[in-house]
Amino acid sequence: MRQQGWTPPSGVNYLALGLGFVVVEQAFEMALALRQRAYLRRDKLPGRLEDQVRAIDDDAAAAAPAAAPAAQEMARDEGDQDKEKSSSSSSSNNNNNKASLLEQLRSKFHKSQTYNLDKNTLSFVNMGYGMAVSAAMLLSGFNVWLWTQSEAVAQSAFGLEPASSELVVGSLFLLAQSVVGAVISMPLTIYSTFWVEAEHGFNRTTPSLFVADTLKSLAVENVIVLPLMAGIVKLVRWGGERFWLYVWGLLVGFSMVMITVYPNFIMPLFNEYKPLPDGELKSEIEKLAARLEFPLTKLYEVDGSKRSSHSNAYLYGFLRDKRIVLYDTLIKNEEEPALACTTEEVVSILAHELGHWSMSHTVKGFLLQNVVYLVAFRLFGLFLHDPDMYKSFGFVDQPVVIGLNLFSYIMAPLGTVLSIAVNAVTRKFEYEADAFAVNLGKADGLKSGLAKISIANLASFDHDPLYHAVHHSHPSLLDRLRAMDCAVEEMTHDVKKVK
Ligand SMILES: [Zn+2]
Repeated sequence: MRQQGWTPPSGVNYLALGLGFVVVEQAFEMALALRQRAYLRRDKLPGRLEDQVRAIDDDAAAAAPAAAPAAQEMARDEGDQDKEKSSSSSSSNNNNNKASLLEQLRSKFHKSQTYNLDKNTLSFVNMGYGMAVSAAMLLSGFNVWLWTQSEAVAQSAFGLEPASSELVVGSLFLLAQSVVGAVISMPLTIYSTFWVEAEHGFNRTTPSLFVADTLKSLAVENVIVLPLMAGIVKLVRWGGERFWLYVWGLLVGFSMVMITVYPNFIMPLFNEYKPLPDGELKSEIEKLAARLEFPLTKLYEVDGSKRSSHSNAYLYGFLRDKRIVLYDTLIKNEEEPALACTTEEVVSILAHELGHWSMSHTVKGFLLQNVVYLVAFRLFGLFLHDPDMYKSFGFVDQPVVIGLNLFSYIMAPLGTVLSIAVNAVTRKFEYEADAFAVNLGKADGLKSGLAKISIANLASFDHDPLYHAVHHSHPSLLDRLRAMDCAVEEMTHDVKKVK
């Protein structure tokens, strides 16, 4: 469909360009997923990961004198019987309840490969479906149709002339677009949640919770996006040549407000945040925070288990008002108590998180994000008044909302390159935060804590390097364990030098 009075573009055909980008990007993603698939089909754990995890078991055994002889022997034995998934050691696990991590890893490896292979298959369906939907929408002129409908509603319901009501028409358009987007992605989200995740024992979301979540997310998204978009449209119309600078200012202000609004008002709509009960864990965390002069004001436990048994921990907050949130799934693991983190492990994981704070990773990330906004809107300024961009997609008018929408197709490759760069930076931050925890003497707790989380979450233990570089914001478990060994070595080396 095309707007009335449409004429073909005189220069570049951005529609063809946008379509080309969609195809090239999906082909690239599919090639990567195919490479990763080969690793997920392997039936043997990487030997170096086994060595690392065996070393964690050895350290734990050495640190616990009473249980040491039995546990140490057990860990050694396993090293020799590579292929045998021995049943003998599981009985000794029960005896001292401190199951060998290597044993856990081996017993979960096959499950993890199947789980990640299923997710990989789903990603192909997702990519194929996404490509088909995008192509159909672009070729049919769906956005032109949706815009025309929004104009008709503005006219019939509010008696507004389309030409003088860009804000109302734009809002109706975005509202409809978010609903259409949710409907289109629904079948695959349902399949992922209620089949893939459920089959592998992670899903805890009930159908009614799923419906409530979907409606709430849609409502929240629109309550936030519509006023923001209205602000952007106003500034673009008012700001003239330099509009991109004003819009950028608005976005910086907006993201600063969201730092407070999001965790305090939006996340509680979806989860329950309870203060962490008094006890050893709480006092150990408070001790660590005090040692680092971290201005901890609240310590929460969140019911992550309401939706999924995947586990996590994070911190947030402004200046002198910081909060720490622990997923209940990190502390408790009813199905597999051996994979629940101990107090020392949770504290070590938080030492890593506090490393992010201490080295200003969040602030750096925030600055980086705002540089990206600035560049994006500066570039948008180059396309805003280009009639060919609008004509290519079937438009005659040049509404700001549509301009931004079409611009996103043209900028897609830049977005991909940028996300690869952001992942690389994030991985570097992860290594730095690990080293920070190591320097606080938390190497052992962090190593075993991370191993437990990876095993419990059925992380993929083997990666195609290219797939990993593009998709993962965190280094692999093996890489982190090895880097921590280096950090420990460096630290002992430094200590010796000082002596
Ligand atoms: Zn981290």
